[in-house]
Amino acid sequence: MTELAYQETLSCVQCGYCLPTCPTYISFKKETHSPRGRINLVKMAAEGKITYEDMEEAINLCLGCRACETACPTNVQYGKILESAIDAIAKNKAHQLKSRVNLVKSFLFNTVVPSNNIRQVLGTGLALYQKLGLQKVAHKTGVLNILPENLHAFEAILPKVEGPLKRAKRQMVYVPEQTKNSVTVGFFVGCIMDTMFSSINTLSMKLLQRAGCHVTVIKEQGCCGALHQHSGYSDTTKALAKKNIEAFEKYEFDYIVNSIGGCGAMLTEYPHLFLDDADWLKRAQNFTAKSVDISVLLSQLSLSYSKQLNYRITYQPSCHMTNVQNRVNEPLQLIKSIPGITFNALPEAHMCCGSAGIYNIVNYTHSMKIMDEKMRHVKELTVQPDVIVTTNPGCHLQMKLGVEREDLQKEIKVVHIVELLAEACGIEA
Ligand code: SF4
Ligand code: SF4
Repeated sequence: MTELAYQETLSCVQCGYCLPTCPTYISFKKETHSPRGRINLVKMAAEGKITYEDMEEAINLCLGCRACETACPTNVQYGKILESAIDAIAKNKAHQLKSRVNLVKSFLFNTVVPSNNIRQVLGTGLALYQKLGLQKVAHKTGVLNILPENLHAFEAILPKVEGPLKRAKRQMVYVPEQTKNSVTVGFFVGCIMDTMFSSINTLSMKLLQRAGCHVTVIKEQGCCGALHQHSGYSDTTKALAKKNIEAFEKYEFDYIVNSIGGCGAMLTEYPHLFLDDADWLKRAQNFTAKSVDISVLLSQLSLSYSKQLNYRITYQPSCHMTNVQNRVNEPLQLIKSIPGITFNALPEAHMCCGSAGIYNIVNYTHSMKIMDEKMRHVKELTVQPDVIVTTNPGCHLQMKLGVEREDLQKEIKVVHIVELLAEACGIEA
């Protein structure tokens, strides 16, 4: 028996109900790029009928969006099957000669991403690149054309990164007006979110404060480990999970709140990492029981709006919010509660936008194909939106890129739900 999730593959009855929900099957039109095809490949690899290399391309091109899991009538645990395949392929590769790409990847995942200090330095570098006018010069001179197409595309849509001074000044505690019976929140900032979109974190905490929460940012927290988990670095994932569990259990928060669909999903799946360790499993379960997306808590509390927003809005949900956290209604409920907005549901909204962690960087061409399909649905809306709302930084950047590719940036802006709610409440970062 191998480390692949063989037992889970046996629950698949090959019905194909999942196929219409799979963006890679729809875009690439191949059985091997469908959930059913991938499950079969993993099963065959576990039985020794094919090699790990034989399933590698199909597994690498899976978005990990888990729409197939939600659609499956027999409750096949596709997420577990996928993670086991990614892990097995990565471990198998580690035994082979290490390529330069793998070494760079390993350095990024095991050294750069987990380090708060390195990320601070990178964030500062990005902020200076933007603030000192270097970005404008680079665009004017065309020097960025030497970058590969994927990096070039994402550089062009980088959000405005907060500088080190503004970041250093950020409050670590937000006290509500009424402290009696206030809900206590430990805020999970995330690593990429807090480097690239730190203003959304600030807005999130101010919204929670407005809704009556006492919010604290604890310094001991770190990266959630989602990118590591999806790339086969399971040891680093566990280490990062333990760090967060230990950090938050020192405090007695009612909730641990985040504004990041993808990271939030990882936080809710921490117990899966410790199934063979009773002590850590219990601690992970306690952590997960308190961990919620901001839309869940805000939808239970009361937000007082001070502005009417006359926007035509559509919403692209985060796959991990929908298929892993099972949170569909709360963001919609909040969006629709804003005075003045006109909401139009996006056709096929459950389909992944093609962002999927770093999928859009490492599988750029495939990701753009999936996103072009998403933008086709946006353009087909009878009432053209002027705002697309997201709940995850990856989806946010991807949808922004989609809007740019369609040359619609003057007509449509992409915002995180928190930015929209903050605008309606008259709150600024
Ligand atoms: S994963 Fe589920 S929906 Fe898809 S073919 Fe297997 S049993 Fe059917
Ligand atoms: S996780 Fe998403 S991309 Fe992968 S097989 Fe399932 S539906 Fe398709």
